[in-house]
Amino acid sequence: MNTEIGRRQMLKGLATIAAAATATGATTARAQTAPSATLPAGNPGWHGFRMGDIDALVLSDGPLAQGDPTKVLQGQPEDVIRETLRNNHLDDQNMTLDQNVLLIRSGDRLALFDTGTGGAPAFGDDPGKLMSNLAQLGIDGASVTDVVLTHAHPDHVWGLSSEDGTANFPNAQVHLHEAEHGFFTDPQNDSHPLLGPFMPTCRTELEAVADRITIFRDGDEVLPGVHAIAAFGHTPGHSCFRLTSGDKSLLLAGDLAHHHVLFTRYPGIKFGFDTDPDQMVQSRTKLFEMLEAERMAFLAYHFPFPGVGHLDRFGDGYQWVAAGLDNTF
Ligand SMILES: [Zn+2]
Repeated sequence: MNTEIGRRQMLKGLATIAAAATATGATTARAQTAPSATLPAGNPGWHGFRMGDIDALVLSDGPLAQGDPTKVLQGQPEDVIRETLRNNHLDDQNMTLDQNVLLIRSGDRLALFDTGTGGAPAFGDDPGKLMSNLAQLGIDGASVTDVVLTHAHPDHVWGLSSEDGTANFPNAQVHLHEAEHGFFTDPQNDSHPLLGPFMPTCRTELEAVADRITIFRDGDEVLPGVHAIAAFGHTPGHSCFRLTSGDKSLLLAGDLAHHHVLFTRYPGIKFGFDTDPDQMVQSRTKLFEMLEAERMAFLAYHFPFPGVGHLDRFGDGYQWVAAGLDNTF
């Protein structure tokens, strides 16, 4: 905010100087003195909103490339997947997912939901922006009191530490579902047929915070006004969270759905990295029905930034209606 005020004051100052120069007849050749219009690179890094007594901020960890969507999705014919993407003005050969990390201040707690990829080279240069976005806002990772994990996949837990192994949130309690903790800390799963290449690092990340882990179960109140809701199947303990303040509520949906068009239009679609795809479809079906029936806003980790919106019935499935930068839900 201070930076913005400073910038505005500077621009005002420049305008005053320019007006004075013109008034005194001090003309210069515009072509020689006009500043070059250099625009900053990049995309919005955060979006703030308020829900009841909760101050919330969605922080981007940057986009996550998935490659050919027909290689990572099952349950719909290849031509249907590609045609649906084209009809929605999206690339039918490369699927890209956003990464929306929620930060809330509620009472004396500063809680982060998931941590991004941590800038791991395995995911290229685009993701891993969470810590730089926090730094630009002047938020120190040491001030985060709680990290709440929807699940322990790399794009959600590798940001627990920096690349040199330093804890990014050294004072935070790390909240994780009991089944998720059991699965991802078991060395026998290091060679898991589906997740093997990622498992040892996931386990290392969790072991590094072992003395700060708090286990929760389905229905537990993880933080005041934050209740865990089972959404198992993507991983053994994948969980969503219902955030409530006064008469307002929001579902933090994690990876309940990966793509804002394909997973809403076809709720029975399956993601290639689901540990139990059929169970995940059941979880999605149940929670989509709840979101539609309650007309409840939800925040999806991988939907277009900032990832907040609603579900409406559409044909045999749903359509996602983005809230955009609206914060009145
Ligand atoms: Zn994910």
